[in-house]
Amino acid sequence: MEAYIDSNIDIDSEYIEGQQSIIVSFAGCNFNCPFCFVPQYLEFSNEYLNDLKVIKSEIERISQNANNIVFTGGEPTLQRLALGNLCRFSRNFNLSTWIHTNASKPNVLRYLLMNQLCDNFIIDIKSPLEEDIFQRTTKSANFFMQSSEIISNIKKSLELLYTYLPSISVEFRTTIFPGVMQDEHHLEEIAKTISRLHPIWIIQNFKYDEEEGILNKALLKSIKERIPSYKYLEGIKENLQRRFPQIMIEIR
Ligand code: SF4
Repeated sequence: MEAYIDSNIDIDSEYIEGQQSIIVSFAGCNFNCPFCFVPQYLEFSNEYLNDLKVIKSEIERISQNANNIVFTGGEPTLQRLALGNLCRFSRNFNLSTWIHTNASKPNVLRYLLMNQLCDNFIIDIKSPLEEDIFQRTTKSANFFMQSSEIISNIKKSLELLYTYLPSISVEFRTTIFPGVMQDEHHLEEIAKTISRLHPIWIIQNFKYDEEEGILNKALLKSIKERIPSYKYLEGIKENLQRRFPQIMIEIR
């Protein structure tokens, strides 16, 4: 079987803090976030089309040096069969499986959960689940799918994950998008959405690799001027942490 997966597979100790994780990056994404931090994986580029045998042999080669395997991207759930196959394969090496997803494919998450293929989920929650700000943050709506449907799918994913607690772990990550998604009321709305899952929630300040990034220079300049300070974010965190003690909030 072939799939769009980068064969450059390595071990990272920061993706899941303090743990050694094999990082497998799937190419292709159904969102188009203006600040995308992995623009090389936005498209299903032929340079990433590989036989799963190649990917598996890389995983096997480094498996002894890791505790976890993280399937990320791009959006890994767009290639369901390859993802399921690699999750199953990873079990042979006693690796704890993690999927980092935008949660837009509840049916794929259901398939993974029902088949006990993954225990740990990192969910990128980009903005409050309201059409206007969600579209401005993700640019994900298109002719075939409107924001309302994408948001509804994300809500279905969250409901589904909730039903599998506590046998799975769920962590949320949100990236600040200066000038668009950075205010306390935005983060408060997200907190309301995720609090029921009692998760870890990592709020990441805006960071951008100017070499790799896709933002044009004028837009990047105006964004950079509006990047919030860590002090501002820590203040928001304190307020939210008081109101939502069931969430463990971290600013990075
Ligand atoms: S969901 Fe992730 S990979 Fe896809 S466009 Fe957004 S930041 Fe990039």
